[in-house]
Amino acid sequence: MKSVVIFIAKFLSFFMNILGRTGGSLPGVVALKFDSRILEKLVWPKDVVVVTATNGKSTMTNMIADVFEKDGRRVVVNRQGDNLRRGVVSLMMKNVNLLGRVRGDVVVLEVDEMSVRDLMREVPVSVLLVGNIFRDQLDRVGSIENVISRLEECVVEYSGKLVLCGDDVGVARLSLKTKAEVVYFGIGRVEGSLDKCDESPDGKICPRCGELLRYEFYQYSHLGRFLCVECRFGDFKVEYLIDKINLDIGSFIVRGVEFKILNKTTYGVYNALGVVAVCSEMGVDVRVVKDVLVEFEIGNGRMEVFELKNGKKLVVNVVKNVAGANEIIKWIMSQSGKKEVFIVLNNAIADGEDIGWIEDVKFEILADENIERVICGGMKVEDISIRIRKAGVEDSKILVVRNIKEGVEKLCDKNSDKFIMVSYTGVKSVRDELRKL
Ligand SMILES: [Zn+2]
Repeated sequence: MKSVVIFIAKFLSFFMNILGRTGGSLPGVVALKFDSRILEKLVWPKDVVVVTATNGKSTMTNMIADVFEKDGRRVVVNRQGDNLRRGVVSLMMKNVNLLGRVRGDVVVLEVDEMSVRDLMREVPVSVLLVGNIFRDQLDRVGSIENVISRLEECVVEYSGKLVLCGDDVGVARLSLKTKAEVVYFGIGRVEGSLDKCDESPDGKICPRCGELLRYEFYQYSHLGRFLCVECRFGDFKVEYLIDKINLDIGSFIVRGVEFKILNKTTYGVYNALGVVAVCSEMGVDVRVVKDVLVEFEIGNGRMEVFELKNGKKLVVNVVKNVAGANEIIKWIMSQSGKKEVFIVLNNAIADGEDIGWIEDVKFEILADENIERVICGGMKVEDISIRIRKAGVEDSKILVVRNIKEGVEKLCDKNSDKFIMVSYTGVKSVRDELRKL
């Protein structure tokens, strides 16, 4: 039966390829219809890495896969981010033989935070990387507490290795529920660390005893060095600890080794650090990791750079939640010279239909003399333009456009550097319009 299901799914993938479709989740949906436990029946390699986080999971997954490929291993990976269970099944159906043996030395899977639990019941995961948990799409996931408790459920029986961001209380909390080996990564006090940070309501309470946590310093949002003085939660050793960062050149030092990255932001450093931790734990030579990180670009609306006809650069970033948007805005403002920002806000299902989160984004920072203009567009153009006005950006600097095409064309008017912040479902249109210029 297993072979028949695999055969049907493979045939579907093949057929859809001929039709010029990438395949997506359909072969997975069909395979699961025939056999809902197909994943359990596959013969997996010893190294299976699962990557989850609110922000950065695609980036980390692709980086880890690149590292293993450069290291000479055969990698099976969902690079396009089909990160729900059916997407993973589709991927695996393409990458097993008819007997169900996985054709690869390593499997690297990006998995949605809410899907990890079910997937881990079926797949023999050897390394689970949890990068961060921020407020995101609460209309879909319920609450941040919901996300964390679902992750907690999946580590109770887990016996592989847990690689956790030790600066995120919600992530570090998983250690309380597991007997698995835990390895932490984090950032020490570096230039740019903050004594106080009011960007997030999360991470305030000790998950073990309920006391208020004390923070020695923050990096951004609720990420930072915390400790419960009551029960000592947070008093763990951070094995992969960054003690120096230079964001101007995109470098950081961990365990005496300097790494360089193209995404010169604190969240870019966190992503890279998670990758360093996973790959080092899995025995990859640090030089291979360095070589991959220094030239890694994911594109696809993550710090994706375009050049306009007038030679000015334009950088596109997907924004989908408060923590991510704040980091992008801070990064934009850290760039020198006059700037123009185009914000495209959609609320399709994949973006999260509730856009209440824009109230908590620090758009106030855009009310600055170096911001020449803020263009507003997308399905929720009214809401975003009202929010920008409320943030203190002068009316004369706000331009509302009917569609992405018009917004992109307007960007060519002025001679400043350009930045686009766009909801997930708007990325494709933005890239298409930019390519037409
Ligand atoms: Zn405590």
